[in-house]
Amino acid sequence: MNRIKLIDLDDQTRLDALAKKSEIIGKIGKRTREKDIKNIKLAYDLYKLSHGNPDKILAGMADKPISRKMGGALAHYYKNPTVDINFIDTMREEFSIRTCPMCGSLGSGTLDHYLPQKHNKAFTIFSLNLVPSCLCNSKKGVRLKGKKTNQRLLHPYFDDCLQQRLVKIDIHHPDTTPTVSSHVLVPQTDADYAAVEFHFDTLVKKKVEMYALENFIDFCRRPGDLISALQRNPRDKNHLRRIIEDELESKDNYFKSKNNWVSLLLFALLDDNILTWLASKLCAPGREPNSPLVARKTSGSSLFLL
Ligand SMILES: [Zn+2]
Repeated sequence: MNRIKLIDLDDQTRLDALAKKSEIIGKIGKRTREKDIKNIKLAYDLYKLSHGNPDKILAGMADKPISRKMGGALAHYYKNPTVDINFIDTMREEFSIRTCPMCGSLGSGTLDHYLPQKHNKAFTIFSLNLVPSCLCNSKKGVRLKGKKTNQRLLHPYFDDCLQQRLVKIDIHHPDTTPTVSSHVLVPQTDADYAAVEFHFDTLVKKKVEMYALENFIDFCRRPGDLISALQRNPRDKNHLRRIIEDELESKDNYFKSKNNWVSLLLFALLDDNILTWLASKLCAPGREPNSPLVARKTSGSSLFLL
């Protein structure tokens, strides 16, 4: 979950240049071809005017169909971009972003279609519909919106709320059998609430909770591996809070996102109950630096004991 920026790639001019030189598109009958190009350009305008909101885009697409042949041609050029749309290759190469803009996991992996290509062929080579993402995006299938008003996936190029920290993970029973839960931080009265909650529930919640639980257990084993300043014991709870806050700021900056999964775990450690518990362990007199916080027999979360 991250807001990212894309320079204006003038998709309409590029589409014209591609169509003019393309043998495949040239074989489509003139009237069909011209109607297809016109409808694709109208669809591009609609996408921008709708700020990437799938509800609004899909509602406006019924009168902008394109032929099967044009859909096939666009799919071909998405895989094999010509010089006029070589931004697709550039995006594939340059988008080695440190956190997935769709889910916040560490690393983007691939370039994917925000509105799935299969059902939205007009946007096959549209730059604003191409987002870097990990596998989360392809796994979402066609579930772009929910049944209730404003429930939709957030869009990394359009939704400014992605710049804020949107989620809090809560850690329970750290001393015995840790479990985690999570909730969005946006107030229910906020205009973005339904979209943030739907996006989080659809793409992120299950995976980030697993990540947080496993990494919290690892943190309890060797705190200094997650936060290097904790290779030495903090003086007291306030000192510990400052150490975690510094680490959080550093990770927000490094990943250029407040919703990357490392930051979400660090933010969870700043919860007052957890901080008090951590301080009782880390600041205990005579504690050996970077030693386990609790003695656990198993990881509690994994089927594999490594
Ligand atoms: Zn992802």
